[in-house]
Amino acid sequence: MPSRRALIGGAAASVAAAVLAAPQVRAQAQPSVVVVGGGFAGASCARALKQLDRDLAVTLIEPETAYLACPFSNAVLAGLRGIDAQTFGYDRFGDIGFIRKRAVAVDAERRRVRLDDGTDIGYVRLVLAPGVDLRFDALPGYDEAAAEIMPHAWKAGPQTLLLRDQLAAMPDGGVVILSAPANPFRCPPGPYERASLIAHYLKTSKPRSKLIILDAKDAFSKQRLFEAAWRELYPGLIEWVPLSSGGRVTEVDPATRTLVTEFGSHKADIANVIPPQRAGRIAQSAGVADQTGWCPIDPVTFESRLQPAIHVVGDAAIGGAMPKSAFSANAQAKACAAAVAALVRERQPAQPKLINTCYSLIAPGYGISIAGVYQPRDGLLAEVEGAGGTSPLEAPSSVRELEAAYAEDWFRTITSEVFG
Ligand SMILES: Cc1cc2nc3c(=O)[nH]c(=O)nc-3n(C[C@H](O)[C@H](O)[C@H](O)COP(=O)(O)OP(=O)(O)OC[C@H]3O[C@@H](n4cnc5c(N)ncnc54)[C@H](O)[C@@H]3O)c2cc1C
Repeated sequence: MPSRRALIGGAAASVAAAVLAAPQVRAQAQPSVVVVGGGFAGASCARALKQLDRDLAVTLIEPETAYLACPFSNAVLAGLRGIDAQTFGYDRFGDIGFIRKRAVAVDAERRRVRLDDGTDIGYVRLVLAPGVDLRFDALPGYDEAAAEIMPHAWKAGPQTLLLRDQLAAMPDGGVVILSAPANPFRCPPGPYERASLIAHYLKTSKPRSKLIILDAKDAFSKQRLFEAAWRELYPGLIEWVPLSSGGRVTEVDPATRTLVTEFGSHKADIANVIPPQRAGRIAQSAGVADQTGWCPIDPVTFESRLQPAIHVVGDAAIGGAMPKSAFSANAQAKACAAAVAALVRERQPAQPKLINTCYSLIAPGYGISIAGVYQPRDGLLAEVEGAGGTSPLEAPSSVRELEAAYAEDWFRTITSEVFG
C-alpha cells in the first residue's frame, strides 16, 4: 500500500517524542492518551478526546492508509455500490498524532505500547479499539487459505470484492450458501441484510438461483421483519436453516465447497462462511480479553476489568446488551473519551447513556431498523426497557423507503464525523 505518511506524521512525531521521554506521571500538563485502532471506535475516541481537552496529547495508532467501512458493504456484493464509497482516508486528523504502525504488544505495568518497528510509546491511559479477528481455529477446514475460496467478507476490502466477483461469475441456477455464527459477533443483523441483498441480486440477474442460510442460532435480530420482507420480495429464493434444524456448520471442505452440519452436508456453488470471531489480537496480547475471546469492561468508563488504565471500545469490548455495530462503537468511543478525559484530570466520570440504531437494507429503497438505549446497571451495559424498538411489522412502502434513506443519511453523517 502506498504510504501517505512515511513513518510517523509531523504531529505524531512530537507527541511520540514527548511520551517516549516520559513514563506515566500523574497530573501532567499534557497527559498522553494512546488510542490503538482507527476504525469507528478508535478514530471517534481520538477525535472526542481532543475535542474534550485540547491539552491532551492524543496519539492514534493505525497501520492502514485507508479505512474500509463494513456498513453498506453488503450493497457492494449486490453490485449496488462501488468499494470506493466504502473507503475513507486518514488525512484529516489535524492535531491528533497519527502513527501509521501496528501495535504488537502492551506492557500494562510500565504503560507502554510496542509498535511493529520495535519502538514503543508511553501512555497515561490507553484505549484499545482493534475490532474483531476472525477465528481461523474454530471451524475445522476454515483457515485463511479456505477464506480465499469461501470468503467471509466480514472485514470490508479484498474479501468483499472476492465474494462480489464470485457472485457475478456464478451461472444462473447456482446455490449460494451463507453460514452465520452463534452470538456474539460483529453486526447481529449483518448476515440477514447480506442474504437479502444477495437475494435481490439473484432475483434480478440470476432468477433460477437459490440462497441457503445455515445458522448456528434459532433466532436473529429483526427476524420477523426480515422474514416478512423475504416472503414479500423473495418468495422461494431464501431458505433459512436454524440451529434446531441442523443449521450449525461444524466443518467445511473448501476443495469441494462443502459445508457440513450435524444433519448432513451441503454443496455450494458459492459459500460465504462467516466464522466465529473474537477481539483483535492486540487485546489478547495486552491481557484484556478473557476466555470468551472478548474484553470485559466497566460500563461507565470502558476500563478493562482485567488491566488498569486500559480501556476497550467497539467490537472488541463486551459488557452487556449493546450489539457490536459501528453506531455502538461511535457511541461507546465518545462515552469512553469523556471518562478518560475526566480520569486523567482526576475528576469523577459521569454515568453515560448510549444509543444504538442498526439499519438494514432488504432491497434498494427498502430499509428496516432496530434501536436501543443502554446504561450501566449491575456492572453491565443494560438495555433501557421500552426505550428502543424495531420498525413496524406492517408498514406501507413509503416507510421502508424512508428508512432506506435514513440509513444512507446515517452512513454519510457518521463517516464524515469520524473520518471527514
Ligand atoms: C457486512 C457488515 C455490515 C455491517 N453493517 C453495519 C451497519 O449497517 N451499521 C452499523 O452500525 N454497523 C455495521 N456493521 C458493524 C461495524 O462494521 C462494526 O461494528 C464496526 O466496524 C466496529 O468498529 P471498531 O472500530 O470496533 O472495529 P473496526 O471497524 O474493525 O476497526 C478496527 C481498526 O483497528 C485497526 N487495528 C486492529 N489491530 C490493530 C493493531 N494491533 N494496531 C493498530 N491498529 C489496529 C484496524 O486496522 C481497524 O482500522 C457491519 C459489519 C459488517 C461485517
